Amino acid sequence: MTAAASLDGLATRLTGGALVTAPEIIEGYRRDRADLVPAGVPLALVRATCTEDVVATMRWAHEGRVPVVPRGAGTGLSGGATALAGCIVLSLERMDAIREVDVDDQLVVVEPGVINADIGRAVEPHGLFYPPDPGSFEISTIGGNLATNAGGLRCVKYGVTRDAVLGLEVVLADGRVLHTGGRTVKSVAGYDMTRLMVGSEGTLGVITAATLRVRPRPPMDPVTFVASFASLPAAGAAVSAIIRSGLAPSLLELMDRATINAIEDYRRLDLDRSAAALLIGQSDGSDADRQVEAMTVCCAQAGADLIVRSSSTAEAEMLLRARRLAGEATMAAGPTIIEDVGVPRSRLADLLLAVGEIAADTGIPIATVGHAGDGNMHPTLMLPDLDPDTLARAFDTAERVCRAALALGGTITGEHGVGALKRSWLAGEIDETSLAMHRAIKAAFDPRGILNPGRGF
Ligand SMILES: Cc1cc2nc3c(=O)[nH]c(=O)nc-3n(C[C@H](O)[C@H](O)[C@H](O)COP(=O)(O)OP(=O)(O)OC[C@H]3O[C@@H](n4cnc5c(N)ncnc54)[C@H](O)[C@@H]3O)c2cc1C
Repeated sequence: MTAAASLDGLATRLTGGALVTAPEIIEGYRRDRADLVPAGVPLALVRATCTEDVVATMRWAHEGRVPVVPRGAGTGLSGGATALAGCIVLSLERMDAIREVDVDDQLVVVEPGVINADIGRAVEPHGLFYPPDPGSFEISTIGGNLATNAGGLRCVKYGVTRDAVLGLEVVLADGRVLHTGGRTVKSVAGYDMTRLMVGSEGTLGVITAATLRVRPRPPMDPVTFVASFASLPAAGAAVSAIIRSGLAPSLLELMDRATINAIEDYRRLDLDRSAAALLIGQSDGSDADRQVEAMTVCCAQAGADLIVRSSSTAEAEMLLRARRLAGEATMAAGPTIIEDVGVPRSRLADLLLAVGEIAADTGIPIATVGHAGDGNMHPTLMLPDLDPDTLARAFDTAERVCRAALALGGTITGEHGVGALKRSWLAGEIDETSLAMHRAIKAAFDPRGILNPGRGF
């Protein structure tokens, strides 16, 4: 059977219009935001509108052994949603209904294409919020957040995506529908398939619905401070001191001078371009004032040269807006490789020191920003051009950053996922026994290896 005839067979099983073969439309679905990962030319695009579309696509792909790349909004930073040659790109963006807001049980049931921030907007009138808030919360889907176990700014206090999931509906590689978890806060019935699916990067199943926990909004606006440091390691030391003190920031974000300047070049916000590092912290508890006071003492003792408590909500929001712009701003400045390393929080200063030394040694400028309170930083390699020599030096730089994190007891990816970009470095983190278990789990869920092959591990 020809590919065209075979695709006709798929079209008859799908909702009208779900199958797209027009190259000019498919082009917009070939890449995520990891621009340097090479993209293949897909056989077709399926824009699913319901679980049945996903079931039909997976059954068809299973029968024909056609690779499938699940896709949310394509904001991923590790090439996990980048198209493979001859694949079906399975977009979930049109499955975007918030099916239920259950105020009594503080949960929502959503489809995978719902934009993260829309969940927050849906529950806000009920005095609730959805905590995991990646920097991309206005543009990324909950399906992508689940598949990458996305983190975010508030995760230092409220946990990552994994901590907010109660249950999932997942279409398996052969088209069967798996239900995991439920609506209860606790359940130990069977293996924890929910947690297995979260962070599986589209390699074990396609998430078609999720039951998520939401929380009561804190009773008052958070108290915000910003501290400026003359060196990055000093800012890292302040973070370690805050954590060591047992304080509970609801946000603790760091950006370096290169990031501050990229933001100012992108959109003028009057940040201090000369600061080596800015640390932005918040507390939203009933003793927020005391917590922030204690955090600023930690900053002062670590050598902060300026500490300011924001005097208004507008000022605090401007600081957060600046932080949220960091990714877009650095990407707008030219080609980037965005690293995602994490270290135990007591080792943050060592990581920042190591990143500075690596950049000086390889000559690839690095702008560093990240979720300092989680020990999760994004050293962003700013490539001056795409010459083969520059690319080789950039990948060497990225590998050295990963190795530095591992040497400090850390991880090569705190929240973006392994995707295609970090596969070669994974063996440095997980051992052969773990890899063998990964292969066994993959074989059980996807015996024909059609789900996002070559991604994750
Ligand atoms: C400016 C900017 C800021 C960012 N900030 C953060 C941040 O603070 N924290 C963070 O964690 N990430 C961040 N990211 C990265 C990215 O937004 C997240 O990884 C996000 O979770 C991806 O969601 P998406 O809908 O774009 O997924 P995609 O990029 O489309 O896909 C990501 C992965 O999930 C899989 N996938 C998608 N949907 C499904 C599904 N329904 N079922 C199974 N698999 C699926 C894909 O195959 C792929 O492997 C940022 C990105 C940008 C551009």
